[in-house]
Amino acid sequence: MAVTILIPTPLRPFVGGRDAVQLEGGSVGELLDRLTGEHAPLRPHLFADDGRLRSFVNVYVNDRDIRQLAQRDTPVKAGDTVSIIPSIAGGTAVADVLPHLSHEEILRYSRHLILPDVGLEGQKKLKAARVLLVGAGGLGSPAALYLTAAGVGTIGLVDFDVVDKTNLQRQILHGTSTVGTGKLESAAARIHDLNPNVRVEPFETRLTSENALDIIRDFDVVADGTDNFPTRYLVNDACVLLDKPNVYGSIFRFEGQASVFHARRGPCYRCLYSEPPPPGLVPSCAEGGVLGVLPGIIGSIQAMETIKLILGVGEPLIGRLVLFDALKLQFRELRLEKDPDCPVCGRHPTITALIDYEAFCGIGAEPSYEGAEISAEQLKDEWHLNPELLVFDVRHPHEHAIAHIEGARLIPLSELPDRLGELDGHREIVTHCHHGARSLKALEILKAAGFPKVRSLRGGIDAWAVNVDRSLPRY
Ligand SMILES: [Zn+2]
Repeated sequence: MAVTILIPTPLRPFVGGRDAVQLEGGSVGELLDRLTGEHAPLRPHLFADDGRLRSFVNVYVNDRDIRQLAQRDTPVKAGDTVSIIPSIAGGTAVADVLPHLSHEEILRYSRHLILPDVGLEGQKKLKAARVLLVGAGGLGSPAALYLTAAGVGTIGLVDFDVVDKTNLQRQILHGTSTVGTGKLESAAARIHDLNPNVRVEPFETRLTSENALDIIRDFDVVADGTDNFPTRYLVNDACVLLDKPNVYGSIFRFEGQASVFHARRGPCYRCLYSEPPPPGLVPSCAEGGVLGVLPGIIGSIQAMETIKLILGVGEPLIGRLVLFDALKLQFRELRLEKDPDCPVCGRHPTITALIDYEAFCGIGAEPSYEGAEISAEQLKDEWHLNPELLVFDVRHPHEHAIAHIEGARLIPLSELPDRLGELDGHREIVTHCHHGARSLKALEILKAAGFPKVRSLRGGIDAWAVNVDRSLPRY
């Protein structure tokens, strides 16, 4: 069995269009000599005149950068994978092999071509570029649309969700006609309609520690539009290990954040937040809500920064964190320092391979609620037989105004600890919320306070609306 050498897109024309070459050899230097011996035109792209590896070309053995190993003398064995990773900043590595533009593309991109900082060469860099969007949701939507319109040649999309009606308030990549279809299928159709020159590479999967390096490796820039902490740390660490710029954005209610993490040139996400908040402390957009236009602003900043990185123009958002407050319409900027003790990009990294991010974020270690939950149908039956059953709603009053279960009493979760005295401990109690997460927290509070007979409505009022009372609106 030989060693597999993965060839990046810009260099494929020099090895007969192949994306991988199998060769035998004992060290990285030996393999690269053999590779450039068989494919002579490749040599000037990898090596400078003095025979040294060009500074904008990085070589990895499996997941490790040879600069952290023994450089050219790094040993390889059968079954190993060697990756050649040209740097994209400024497009230096791809400059020799930029693609041509058709007449149609020249017309389409004319407003770019007459901009001195983009021009023909910049537009060709955009066409040669490969950008990976993690998530085709709120942030991924505007990012994908603007990158598509701008002529980024290849857009990779990672998502495994189905378009839901509640997405359409902000996820402008999708439409009413694609509700119920996969987000990737919906996105690809919209992208193709906007700009048929763009190639979409879909990854219909959850990004995991097992697949992240393989997926991210082939892209020049990653734009992170995820809405959960495990994936955000996973994207960060994978980008640090592969030396990829990670264009970060996040949103909540009326506030957004953006930055560019590129460990070689500045801090990473872990330098900013070395540890995630405990599960449940920061509500998701599904729980906390988000203003529809906000992801449009933050996702557009991500698209803008991505394009600047590809073109090598301007000052990237590296080492800076932009905070946006929509209610005040105010941008603030914080300077971010690289943490010398950062576990992944610091001087002595302790994280040198991808870890279990669910465990790292404290997910999966939650207590089991077996027997503590009740289904909507079961609640209906029990309530009918036992009208003494006390059902109470722990949502916010403004949610109660959208829809409520007749006969259920409202005590918002935040007020519950102070209002325990209003509850009769001798009665059986069922807590409910929107989807069933907050009512479990209420259940814990009641249990801790000594209430013996408490259960939580599984799936919340949403399950009630689907299975018991179809006259209720869902939200
Ligand atoms: Zn770091």
